[in-house]
Amino acid sequence: MSSDLLDAAALRQACTGRAATPCTCALGACPGWESFTEDRWPGPSVQRLGTLRDPAVDEPTLQEFHPGGTRYGSPDAPLALEFFPCNRCDAYACNRCGRTLLRYTEYGGYYVDHRVREVDPKQVV
Ligand SMILES: [Zn+2]
Repeated sequence: MSSDLLDAAALRQACTGRAATPCTCALGACPGWESFTEDRWPGPSVQRLGTLRDPAVDEPTLQEFHPGGTRYGSPDAPLALEFFPCNRCDAYACNRCGRTLLRYTEYGGYYVDHRVREVDPKQVV
């Protein structure tokens, strides 16, 4: 099923038309892939928009995209959909604050780590 795969244009589109107001949901500000626990995820008020993970790719690359010298957690790092970690994210819309959110889960040997970042459409490449 690839019908819910979002490309850059679709992701930018998802951010338009809704004013991003200061967030009132439990996640708080998340400009740079914040780690969060599942109990902070505002489940009922977020709507899943689709995925950025291409089902045709078995193992998405772990390579990151930082042409401007940014790092993984930089709030100004580009959101490069074909690179890590966007390439394993699902996209959500928060109905409370109007933000578009990307989330994915890192699996370590003994832990899972949920990460979230809010989408600034200007950073989508
Ligand atoms: Zn919110």
